Amino acid sequence: MQEARINQVMGRAQVWTALFLLLFAALAVRLFAIQILRHDYYVRKAEATRGRQWPINAPRGNIYDRNGRPLALNLKLYAVAADPGLIDDPTATAGNLAALLRTSPTDLEARLRGKPGSRYVLLCDSVDEQVAEAIRQLGHPGIIVSTEWKRVYPHGDLAGAVLGFVGADRHGLSGIEAALNVPLTGDQGERLVVLDGRLPRSRRQIPGRTVVSKEMVPGSSITLTIDQEIQAIAEEELAAAVESANAAGGCAVVMDPRSGQVLALATQPGFDPNEYQSYDPTTWVNQAVSSPNEPGSTFKAVTACIAIEEGVMANGEIHQCTGTRPIGRRSISCALHGGTRAHGPVDLDKMVVVSCNTGMSTVALALGEERLYRGAKRLGFGEKTGIELAGESSGILPRPGNWSQARVANVGFGQGISVTPVQLLSAYCIVANGGSRVHPRLVQSIVHPDGTIEQCRPPAAEKVLSPETCARVAKDLERVVEEGTGKTARLRGWRAAGKTGTAQKPTPEMGFRSGKYLGSFIGFAPSREPRLAVLVSIDEPKGVHYGAVVAAPAFRNICERSLSYLRVPPDETPAARAAAGRGA
Ligand SMILES: [Zn+2]
Repeated sequence: MQEARINQVMGRAQVWTALFLLLFAALAVRLFAIQILRHDYYVRKAEATRGRQWPINAPRGNIYDRNGRPLALNLKLYAVAADPGLIDDPTATAGNLAALLRTSPTDLEARLRGKPGSRYVLLCDSVDEQVAEAIRQLGHPGIIVSTEWKRVYPHGDLAGAVLGFVGADRHGLSGIEAALNVPLTGDQGERLVVLDGRLPRSRRQIPGRTVVSKEMVPGSSITLTIDQEIQAIAEEELAAAVESANAAGGCAVVMDPRSGQVLALATQPGFDPNEYQSYDPTTWVNQAVSSPNEPGSTFKAVTACIAIEEGVMANGEIHQCTGTRPIGRRSISCALHGGTRAHGPVDLDKMVVVSCNTGMSTVALALGEERLYRGAKRLGFGEKTGIELAGESSGILPRPGNWSQARVANVGFGQGISVTPVQLLSAYCIVANGGSRVHPRLVQSIVHPDGTIEQCRPPAAEKVLSPETCARVAKDLERVVEEGTGKTARLRGWRAAGKTGTAQKPTPEMGFRSGKYLGSFIGFAPSREPRLAVLVSIDEPKGVHYGAVVAAPAFRNICERSLSYLRVPPDETPAARAAAGRGA
């Protein structure tokens, strides 16, 4: 009996000991976790309860051209701010800082006292390293010196409309800066300023005690498809063309027709993103993607492609051009040439070469709205191209179903629809490359802060035209330059293909034409193995407004200079031989 009792007591003691040991072990593990494993975390947490957090600015990613030449960088500066609640002696602090910040002590003191409750008062956002260091050395509590990054564009207005600019809040507001704002921005970090343990109102900064509570992550850098050299050529030639035509503005776009990569995109009037505020906001608009207009005669090549694919008037059928053709209450006319409007007998190819409006309206009517619409849609009209720029327009390609006869006829030669320069040039790229749809792109790759490179690949190229159709239209466009309306675009050294266009600018009210014109030229070179597709559009030229006069010479100069720069071997044309002879 007694033995059983002893056993019972012994058993209870063992249970208690075991429980006690278990508890102790759990506590030890917890202490180990707090003191050793998560030491930093708890230190930061403790400091956070008696500290102030100040931002660490992340530098924005750089922007480079396709060859790594910088187009947008950051200048390292320092911002000086105050946390009024932490300043011991505003009068003495102001007295010491005023000269360094180039301001009056009275004014500075008022700002150091701050508004009730204010904890961050910016005193100056751009002091250099020397001044920043001097202020740090003074060691005034409540004075915050932080790194600032000022966005700079080392080439001034070069590629301004492509690059865009960054607002005061470090947010990209237009161009690539806006379209790729997220990867360019990075992540702001935080610096914790440790305060002493007094009551909240009388806390003081402990000198020298700051902890980085969150590391900043710099923004990713962007490599564009733009070639700085070709961009400069396009800008110079566009500016010269706008000036000599006494025009309101214009744009020039250069693409690689094989890939859809944009090599240059120039607009006039341009702006310098370093000081974008001092330019009229209309100059910030990128006309190449945001301002659709009637394409005019440059669209005839598109109609020809659709007609050949559909087998409509594509087998030598002849149209008799008398110079005018009545459609409903209006009439279509061909441009006056040599005192007459009549082109006489023309087949589909010749309609492109001589730019016959009545002929192309006949082709369009034979195609009908459904096939015209579907064909244009396949070549990328009526939808955004997806180029990496904010504010892209999809243009206007009306849905089929209720096009009037007049609209069908007009679309054939580029009226009654609206397209952006980049859409139109992309369609010419398809002809140039043998039938593959291209997706115009400005971004080649993104370099992340950890060094990984993300290649930006456009969607796979889809075949939208047969190689035979492309070869035939390319030949027509070559004849435009050799013997047709585009002789002023003829290159010295290379064979080129292209088309002139002159369109009236419509006003916002439908159907009313303003009497203002757009003169344009679009083409590619060398025509047999194209390396460049180029569009030049001149906005509201005064006096002569034909594309052949105002835009084709700029096309020629951009092609000649860019092909030389790219070391593309010249074609063996008579013009090339003549040029070689002149050079010898
Ligand atoms: Zn005609």
